[in-house]
Amino acid sequence: MVPETGLEIDSSMAAVGAKVARGERITVDDAHLLWTHASDEELKRLASLVRARYHDPKRATYMVMRIINYTNVCVAQCDYCAFYVLPNQEGGYVMTREDVFAKIDELLELGGDLVGFNGGFNPKLPLHYYADLFSAVRERYGDKVEFYALTIAEFMFLADRANLSFADTAARLRDAGVHWITGGGSEILTEDFRKRHAKFKYTVREYLEAQKAVVDAGLRTTATMVIGFDETLEERLEHLDRTRTLQDACLADGHDGIFSFLSWTYKPYGTALGGREITPQEYWRNIALSRIFLDNVKHIRTSVLTLNEDAFRALEYGADDFDLPVEDEVTQKAGATIDRDLDRLLTVPRAMGYEVEYRHAARPPAVAAA
Ligand code: SF4
Repeated sequence: MVPETGLEIDSSMAAVGAKVARGERITVDDAHLLWTHASDEELKRLASLVRARYHDPKRATYMVMRIINYTNVCVAQCDYCAFYVLPNQEGGYVMTREDVFAKIDELLELGGDLVGFNGGFNPKLPLHYYADLFSAVRERYGDKVEFYALTIAEFMFLADRANLSFADTAARLRDAGVHWITGGGSEILTEDFRKRHAKFKYTVREYLEAQKAVVDAGLRTTATMVIGFDETLEERLEHLDRTRTLQDACLADGHDGIFSFLSWTYKPYGTALGGREITPQEYWRNIALSRIFLDNVKHIRTSVLTLNEDAFRALEYGADDFDLPVEDEVTQKAGATIDRDLDRLLTVPRAMGYEVEYRHAARPPAVAAA
């Protein structure tokens, strides 16, 4: 029993439950214990306690967004990816700015205003392709549209190709109108996972250095996590621990750091790795564990992109925010299905008792001042 909350909890977990109830940080071992011993109901209630410290328990926020996959050419060859083609292979493409504008215009018509640029590691695209594209988008749309320009993984590849430091690359992109470089491409942040599935992509140490450099440059970032490959519980916990440690470092340096943590599920169709999808229940439990463990990250986002309507149940497990995506070729190629009937989708969280409110991606103050 946890007296502060009345939680009926197994005695072996009482100390961990009491820590959460008192607002104390839990350890990796505590998180291990919760995952292996806590019931769904216990995880839900603990995660809801932490969520309520940041958010109204009956309110959730959302955005309508589109991932624009500006190129599918990639040399990284991750075995869990069904999207890429190698350079000079048939089917490779690079979008022009007109292609991009058409997709943004359609997003605006659908009521959305957030774009995520996400493509492959294309060795033929120089820094000025990105800088020109992002400044053209900023010039045409101003702050009417916010965009997540690249993931940390693409950012690292771009810095390497341009032979620039992470700090200089971030500064160039900031000058081109970029406000956000998101934490995508992290999947599972352990060196073993990278070696098993994405050995040409990056090392974890480099990834975290790049993300910190982005934050230090005054840009904003997010954190992500993809589950359901073959990762162990220990690897999931290492990923969460690295995320929390990075956020501690950002906050200690006076930055807002990681705005949100978004987790989604691996889609195995058409990939070299293959495998099966995990259950929604496993996903919800991982959301709860993330909310409890990541005590320094305000927003925990659930993935409608890969879970569809099942994603909304995660609001009861600690999530407070979600995207309604209208396109993402990367996950669609691997089996994700997108429902563009956004009004109908929103009836689901409303029927669960949540008041849902549209959230606009804000320009980070440091960028506004630059
Ligand atoms: S996941 Fe990204 S980096 Fe990996 S192969 Fe696919 S496009 Fe390339």
